[in-house]
Amino acid sequence: MTGEGPTVSETLAEARRRFIEAGIADPVTDARLLVAGLLKFSSTEMLSRGDERLAEEKVALIKVAVKRRLAHEPVHRILGEREFYGLPLSLSEGTLEPRPDTEILVDTILPFLRGLAKTEGHLHILDVGTGTGAICLALLSECPEASAIGSDVSADALSTAKSNAERNGLGERFEVVQSSWFQNISGTFHAIVSNPPYIASNVIANLAPEVTKFDPAAALDGGPDGLDAYKAIAKDAARFMRPDGVIGLEIGYDQRNDVTAVFEAAGFQCVGSAKDYGQNDRVLVFALNA
Ligand code: GLN
Repeated sequence: MTGEGPTVSETLAEARRRFIEAGIADPVTDARLLVAGLLKFSSTEMLSRGDERLAEEKVALIKVAVKRRLAHEPVHRILGEREFYGLPLSLSEGTLEPRPDTEILVDTILPFLRGLAKTEGHLHILDVGTGTGAICLALLSECPEASAIGSDVSADALSTAKSNAERNGLGERFEVVQSSWFQNISGTFHAIVSNPPYIASNVIANLAPEVTKFDPAAALDGGPDGLDAYKAIAKDAARFMRPDGVIGLEIGYDQRNDVTAVFEAAGFQCVGSAKDYGQNDRVLVFALNA
């Protein structure tokens, strides 16, 4: 790299200092991820190449990025991508940043899909409100016998999801459809998955600025009680499911009983659930009543 500027280690220390001073939540991790991401260094290289001096343009790039983080933009938005279930995914304005907790939805639904794959041979999956495509693409990467539709109201999200599919070699098995819930969807599916907006409207303002200023409101706002999306999905899902299909949903930490009641009223039963890394209820799986 041979520049004239400060070393990698000095640059990292400076970013860390500024994040700590500003009260950024995970200053040490964020500084490391940001500097490493911008330099395209692995975590090993961050150590082994710590004494290298940075070229002028790298120094400038990092300076701008540090400023953006100080204005509460999340690290992965600044980098423009984030890894989900081992897949590198691009982010854009119309997409929620995929969270590690959402990987638990993938883990929870996979055994159901593997079981279905044995009897059905081929699987068809629908991801409602696909955003970056995260959930759906992770499932496709794990299930070679599956194809999927990712739907979203946002055209921006759909183009990001499509390019994420192509980037990960999954483009041929992934189709996008612009749709509000099931409006423009046709066909029946072995699995319907979704991480829908589930935050009650009046709670959104209390979330961290990283979320309120940078995640799209449409991907967060679940209406007055946070349940609008679940009600919309429960109302029509049965028409789009194979008889032995399942619905896998991410939910808010306090929504287990409410979401279960919404789906039970629509003729479903809860057949699986999982907690997130913070031990909150995070995932529910439903099947049609026999
Ligand atoms: N987990 C997200 C958050 O709290 C919300 C995602 C959603 O509404 N689906 O930031």
